[in-house]
Formats: sequence, C-alpha cells, structure tokens
Amino acid sequence: MLRTLLLILKTLHLTLQQVTTHIALALTPRLHRLTYHTVRDPKDIVVSGASFAGYHAARGLASILPTGYRVVVIERNSHFQLTWVLPRFCVVAGHEHKAFFPYRGYLAPVAEGAYTWITGAVGRIVLESGAGEGKVVLEESGKEIAFEYLVVATGAVAAGLPSRVGGKTKEEGMVMLRGEQERIRTARDVVLLGGGAAGVEMAGDVKERYPEKNVTLVHSGERLLNRGYGEGLSRRALDGLQALGVKVLMGERVVIDDQLERMEEVKLESDQVVKCDCLIKCVGQRPNSGLVGEVSPSSIAESGHSRICPTLQLVDKACSRIYAAGDVTEVDAVQNARGAFQQAEVVARNIVRAIKGKTLVEYQPKWWEGATKLTLGLKKSVMYVSDRSAELILPTKGKEELDSARVWKFFGLKPFVDAQEEKST
Ligand SMILES: Cc1cc2nc3c(=O)[nH]c(=O)nc-3n(C[C@H](O)[C@H](O)[C@H](O)COP(=O)(O)OP(=O)(O)OC[C@H]3O[C@@H](n4cnc5c(N)ncnc54)[C@H](O)[C@@H]3O)c2cc1C
Repeated sequence: MLRTLLLILKTLHLTLQQVTTHIALALTPRLHRLTYHTVRDPKDIVVSGASFAGYHAARGLASILPTGYRVVVIERNSHFQLTWVLPRFCVVAGHEHKAFFPYRGYLAPVAEGAYTWITGAVGRIVLESGAGEGKVVLEESGKEIAFEYLVVATGAVAAGLPSRVGGKTKEEGMVMLRGEQERIRTARDVVLLGGGAAGVEMAGDVKERYPEKNVTLVHSGERLLNRGYGEGLSRRALDGLQALGVKVLMGERVVIDDQLERMEEVKLESDQVVKCDCLIKCVGQRPNSGLVGEVSPSSIAESGHSRICPTLQLVDKACSRIYAAGDVTEVDAVQNARGAFQQAEVVARNIVRAIKGKTLVEYQPKWWEGATKLTLGLKKSVMYVSDRSAELILPTKGKEELDSARVWKFFGLKPFVDAQEEKST
C-alpha cells in the first residue's frame, strides 16, 4: 500500500515536471533563432530515420546547434507513421488517414537554415579515416552526404501490419490498412500470434467489433505482455480479453507452413489444431540495424540491436561520431516512444556538447519511460505505470481514433489537415 502511495506521488510530481518540459520544448527553438545564422557551407549532422527517435533528435539538435552546423534529416517515408494506432485501424474503418501525418510541422519553430530534409533512404555508411567523420550514401540515387556526426534512428522492422506499415507513402499505407480491415471482416476464425501489446489490443478490438467471430490469441510466453511489464497488467489484459470472449492460449506456438494464404486451420506445437481463416502476426519485430552492422559488426548485439555506450555513441571507438536512439538500440528497458524521446534528447545534447568540447552526459532509463496505455477492446483501456516496486493500473476513457488528434497537435499540426496530401492529389 505504501509503495503504491509513493508511486502515486511520484507520478503526480512527474506530471508537473512534464509541464516544464513542454514549456522548454516550445521556448528553446524560439530563443535559438535569435543567435543562429545560416552560413554558406555548414557542417552536417545527419539524422537517419525520422520517427519518434530521429524526428525528436532532429528537433532537439536544430534547436540548440551552433552557427556553422546544420541538421540533414533523411527519412524513407513520405509521412510519419504512427505505430500505436495501427492495431485499431486494421480493424475499424474510416480513420486510416490519421495514422499518417505530414513531416516538418515539428520543425516549424526552428531557425531558418538549421535543417534540411531529404525523402529517401540511407543505403550505406562510410567512415573516413581519421577522427570518425564519414558519409552516408543514399539508396536509390547513390548521392553522398558527408557528416560530422550521424544519428542512427532507423527503429525496428516487422513483417508488416499491425506492427509496422511496410509501405513508404500515405496512400500505400491506407490501402494496406483497408486490406487488413477487409481480411478480418470477411473471416470467421481469426487467430492472432503474439501476446505483446499489439496482439492484446488487436485481439480485443476484433472480438468487440465482430462478436460473432471466433478470435484466438496464441502467445508463446506464460503470461501476456511479458517483456518489461508487471504481472498486474498481464492479469488485467487476460481478464479483459476473456471478458470479451477472446480465447487466449498461452505457452503455445503456431507451426507455420507455406499454406497460410489458403488456410482453414493452424496447428500448434502442442499438436492442438485451431480453426483459422485469418492469421494475424503480431510477432517478429526486429531492430533495423543493418546500416550499423555493415560499418561496425562489433556494435551489433546478439539480439540484433545496436550496442551503445551510456553516452549513446556506438560502442566501437572508431564510430565515436555515430550515435543511436530508439528501437534500434540495446537498452535495458521497455522500448517505446517515451524512451526513444529521452534518448533522442541525450543524443542532441551530446552532439552539441561534443562540438563544444564539453563532457558528454549519460542516458539512464527512467522508471516512467515504460508507462503505457493499453486498450482492452474498443471501449475500455487502462493507463499503466510501474517503478518496479509497485504498479498503478487506472481505467481510462478513449476515442475510437485513440489519441491520434493529440499526437498530430504535439507534432505541430492541425488534426487532420494534410497540406502535403492535398498538393499531391
Ligand atoms: C503496434 C504498436 C503499438 C505501440 N504502442 C505504443 C504506445 O502506445 N506508446 C509508446 O510509447 N510506444 C508504443 N509503441 C512502440 C513505439 O512505436 C516504438 O518504440 C517507436 O516507434 C520507436 O521509434 P523509433 O524512432 O526508434 O523507430 P521506428 O518507429 O521504427 O521508426 C524508424 C524510422 O526510420 C526510418 N528508416 C528506417 N530505415 C531507414 C533508412 N535506411 N533511411 C532512412 N530512413 C529509415 C523509417 O522509415 C521510420 O520512419 C508501439 C509499437 C507498436 C508496433
């Protein structure tokens, strides 16, 4: 009880701190504009990947950079792809466009010339001999961009929806979401693989939207959400799904064969057979660390994540000008957007500190970075926070579109106005 009370007080204190953080986030680029000047040949700091980690690192850097430096953002996708609405928008129709918002809004307050944007993918990193500078080579054009510092924020990849979109444009992404909606709508026996957050949320949504369908969640672990979340949340998730009528099979794996497209059933490793005409894979996210692996094999952990120092540079001393943040990195914490943001802030500060010859600061995962909102069907959700000695699980209300409008606003946009989309049609 005392532990829970302490956690409540810590959470209230944190909420106040967040207000100060938001004020600082709004003021810093505006103050920086007073002193930053554009120069003819700035030194470039390349940010590869602009999702939660890279976009925030770019904003942080462009808000504090000394004159003479510039941020070059290189992002593969035309729009920011909001991962955490994907399970819901694979099920309910009419919100697909809200998962893809245009870039640049978040960088609108920074000084003119502090950044430039390239829509494209980094294909290769090349180190120059010497002090660790190098260049990136773009995948399609082969164009080379020299960097003084590089931020790798290439995140994770998955087999596709609901964990990642896979397509590069908003149009492609919306088509894919509608395809999933149709696949589920026309199915009778839906089986979801993986009882992480995506599997739990999507299983609840499917069963609540289509109570007449058989929905089974197959999870290899002994409890749901077992990576980094407390037992209280696992129990709440299980209770929530069972109350909706989802069948949850724990400690089980599906034996995948090549006939998945035309299947009628799936076989489990225990030999149990489950009827299935729609298989949804909520497993198999992997760190997207290929770029790092090529330039520095020793910076890749067994898990495939990029190994980083506490200062968020790659562990390989030859790569001391290469920083990494977000899902691509190996950290002892739940990997989510909050953590990606915190790492991005440390990366931005450290690059500017390195430029100024100052001692670098260290990233320490904070207890609250694992806080999460978990939906349990279309109408119920819980807010979860834990400091590892106690858990707080509070019922919350939410909209069908989840918090997509709030996210658009946070990133400097009017929900759901997409000038970029209007121009291209
Ligand atoms: C279904 C689901 C629900 C989630 N819900 C939540 C939640 O409620 N709250 C929360 O905090 N977190 C949530 N997460 C986790 C969160 O989405 C991730 O932790 C976060 O997206 C990590 O951000 P990132 O910037 O590291 O990488 P990613 O989001 O994976 O983005 C990587 C970016 O890099 C780009 N890129 C990749 N390779 C290249 C290249 N070679 N060149 C240029 N660009 C490249 C990609 O296009 C992409 O934009 C959820 C995740 C999933 C899958």
